Amino acid sequence: MKAGVIAVQGDVSEHAAAIRRAGEAHGVDVETVSIRRSGIVPDCDLLAIPGGESTTISRQVHDEGIAPEIRAHVEAGKPVLATCAGLIVLSRDAKDDRVSTLDLLDATIDRNAFGRQADSFRAPVDVVGLEDPFPGVFIRAPTVDEVGDGVETLSTWESRPVAVREGPILATAFHPELTDDVRIHRLAFFDADLATDADSPEDDAGEVA
Ligand code: GLN
Repeated sequence: MKAGVIAVQGDVSEHAAAIRRAGEAHGVDVETVSIRRSGIVPDCDLLAIPGGESTTISRQVHDEGIAPEIRAHVEAGKPVLATCAGLIVLSRDAKDDRVSTLDLLDATIDRNAFGRQADSFRAPVDVVGLEDPFPGVFIRAPTVDEVGDGVETLSTWESRPVAVREGPILATAFHPELTDDVRIHRLAFFDADLATDADSPEDDAGEVA
């Protein structure tokens, strides 16, 4: 299986490592590739869009011709995990002219809802599909404002959605790749049901091919 990580900026190697570990937990060998140009996404089964600066990431994916490939990936029903700036880039509207969103996730976003860099924080968040809380790492984190009917809210913090799912897209305002916990990557990419089986990869090994 091949997983692409959009590598304009952000936690690219951390995402790649988390995807490989999540694959291992399911007995799947995953090759990871960094994406800075067009022509690679079409070969990928899975896609991660990291955090960073959504203005920069959106500009680059448009300039490099990667944007239509991400759209085709989603339209083909292939999984995407978008974190933080990734969430912003996929949204319908980030309410900021500097971010040209892809409108693949039916949600509007408050880009820096949880404040500036100094306001970054960690908090355990409950996530639908996970038995135990997930260690949320929030860095200048956005939040989801309004969602369409097709969007499921998986997690909220201070009454605001911070993890959502729509079709093949799972998007979080926090950074699962900056923890040792790969349950969000497992949920996003391997459709894992970890609601009753918190984090015991060995129990699930080989279940999903
Ligand atoms: N709020 C940032 C933005 O608008 C995203 C922060 C992050 O990805 N850690 O791009």
